[in-house]
Amino acid sequence: MPGERFADVAIVGGGVMGASIAAHLVERKAGRVVVFEREDLLGTGSTAKAAGGVRLQFTTAANVALSRYSMAEIRNFRERTGVDADFAQDGYLFLLNSEEDLRRFSETAVVQRALGAPVEVITPEEAERILPGIRTDDLVGATFCGEDGVATPAALVAGYAALARRGGAELRRGCEVTTVAPTTGGGFSFVAGGERWECDWLVNAAGPWAGQVGALLGVDVPVSPVRRQFFTTEPLSWAPEKMPLTIDWGTGVYMHLHSGGMLIGNSDPDEPPGFSQTPDLDYLAGVWEDAARRLPRVEEASMKTLNAGLYEVSPDHNAILGPVPGLPRFVLANGFSGHGMQHAPAVGRAISEVITDGESRTLDITAFSVARFARGTGTPEGNVI
Ligand SMILES: Cc1cc2nc3c(=O)[nH]c(=O)nc-3n(C[C@H](O)[C@H](O)[C@H](O)COP(=O)(O)OP(=O)(O)OC[C@H]3O[C@@H](n4cnc5c(N)ncnc54)[C@H](O)[C@@H]3O)c2cc1C
Repeated sequence: MPGERFADVAIVGGGVMGASIAAHLVERKAGRVVVFEREDLLGTGSTAKAAGGVRLQFTTAANVALSRYSMAEIRNFRERTGVDADFAQDGYLFLLNSEEDLRRFSETAVVQRALGAPVEVITPEEAERILPGIRTDDLVGATFCGEDGVATPAALVAGYAALARRGGAELRRGCEVTTVAPTTGGGFSFVAGGERWECDWLVNAAGPWAGQVGALLGVDVPVSPVRRQFFTTEPLSWAPEKMPLTIDWGTGVYMHLHSGGMLIGNSDPDEPPGFSQTPDLDYLAGVWEDAARRLPRVEEASMKTLNAGLYEVSPDHNAILGPVPGLPRFVLANGFSGHGMQHAPAVGRAISEVITDGESRTLDITAFSVARFARGTGTPEGNVI
């Protein structure tokens, strides 16, 4: 007889992934589902720092498929969960300043369109009509997808947590998983919050800390934490009513509307792996300058908040999803490399099917198996922001 501290499925990590997986599991009647989150609140890890971007413009078919599934769910999030995801579908605009990038983005757009993503390759003049005020003299083209947009990360956590709770899942906070061992029956025994538990299935949804959770079972989960930063501005009198999430591909700077002002960030290619989440004002001042070179009125903006969080980076910038070879009931939902918030709906669905049906049937996640690293890596995702 299962004891009081037995879970059919134990999920380590209460970020957007843990919450989504729990919500999808209870819908699929997976038995007793328990999320273990070491912090006192859900969603304070990488999820709390996400910029909110949701896009179809990925380079691999597998990522476009995760996006298409997820976007449909985010669009109907209020009906599904009772919480509004604030999804503004004002598009993603990639501004390109080299012929080589224009060629690559144009080729990718053909693939994206074949997968149902309405991505257009446009001229610099057309880009300026979408976002008036940008400097275009050095641009050679752009891509635009009007279905892309921005949602609120905390709303996704709140919605999935509500759905999970309504379905009977337990969301235990202040409860760190500290040791794990396989049991003879194929499940696991572990210590969470100082108490010994057992479970049939164990899900690693520990975000940037996924490697540490893998190590508890001696499993190499190749995820590196890497600091990523952005700032927000005070409200801007000149802010357009609508604006796509705009990426200046040459510098990597991205910006979008946020609380009447803007959110502006970049990913430092020289940032070493590590757990620092301290914002670096000098770096962010450089981001501001790059942004102002593209959209000169940004110079008039005042910084309001400085933010630093952790990407959970995999070797090929793709997620790591599904069971671990040799430990088939240890399931990974890791390595989202900067696009995990937007893929949480699809990942919740896929992982829940792995557990209840033995495989992910709705979405093909074979490209995301951890086994790919034994053969080298998979096809790297090219549009990493
Ligand atoms: C600056 C920045 C901008 C981003 N922008 C975007 C964006 O625009 N769009 C997008 O889709 N994504 C974006 N991301 C990425 C996105 O935030 C992540 O991919 C996503 O939030 C990962 O969710 P998660 O639930 O896997 O991880 P997390 O939110 O980090 O959750 C993991 C949880 O596990 C808990 N945990 C760890 N170890 C243990 C343990 N041993 N026991 C119990 N609990 C444990 C942690 O406390 C944490 O709460 C951005 C990230 C950053 C940093």
